[in-house]
Amino acid sequence: MAKKYTLSAYKKESRNKRKKLGPFIRNIHRRKIINLSRLVIATDAQVWQEIDCTQCAICCKHMTPTFTQTDIRRIAKHLSISVAEFKATYLQKDHEEKDWINLHIPCPFLDKNNLCGIYDVRPIDCRSFPHLRHRHWLLQRNVFDANMSYCPATLRMVELIHQQVTNEPKGKKV
Ligand code: SF4
Ligand code: SF4
Repeated sequence: MAKKYTLSAYKKESRNKRKKLGPFIRNIHRRKIINLSRLVIATDAQVWQEIDCTQCAICCKHMTPTFTQTDIRRIAKHLSISVAEFKATYLQKDHEEKDWINLHIPCPFLDKNNLCGIYDVRPIDCRSFPHLRHRHWLLQRNVFDANMSYCPATLRMVELIHQQVTNEPKGKKV
């Protein structure tokens, strides 16, 4: 059975690994890695064999996605409410007044089984999070570093890449 995660337990258990892997991922652009994109694709596949997001949902409980205007129109239509009502009920602008983000955290669309209640129409940000196969993977290194504090899948990705690049023996996932 897949491991269940809570943020506090995860943060505690992963502290030492994050300490070791942080400098590695922040500086990964300085290394010469042959076939990085192939390594990323293979590692991403392995991560999702090991980690079940329905046993975690830390991102939905402790972070917020950003909502594009297209997301907002699509979700409002799905909920049969107007765009204005959707924004007023569920969203706020972020600090820089740039992006629409959730008004409340945990996300109001997360159900008690850790499933997304608007899965088919969820924001594009949710679809691609945690961006482990990002097109500009190296440019995401600081995002991966930050996300390791929340996301077991990101930590596992960085850990597996670290093992491959440094030839360290494979460890267990946190
Ligand atoms: S994407 Fe990361 S934080 Fe979100 S549910 Fe999956 S493992 Fe957890
Ligand atoms: S919309 Fe769905 S996937 Fe996105 S944060 Fe909310 S519950 Fe999670």
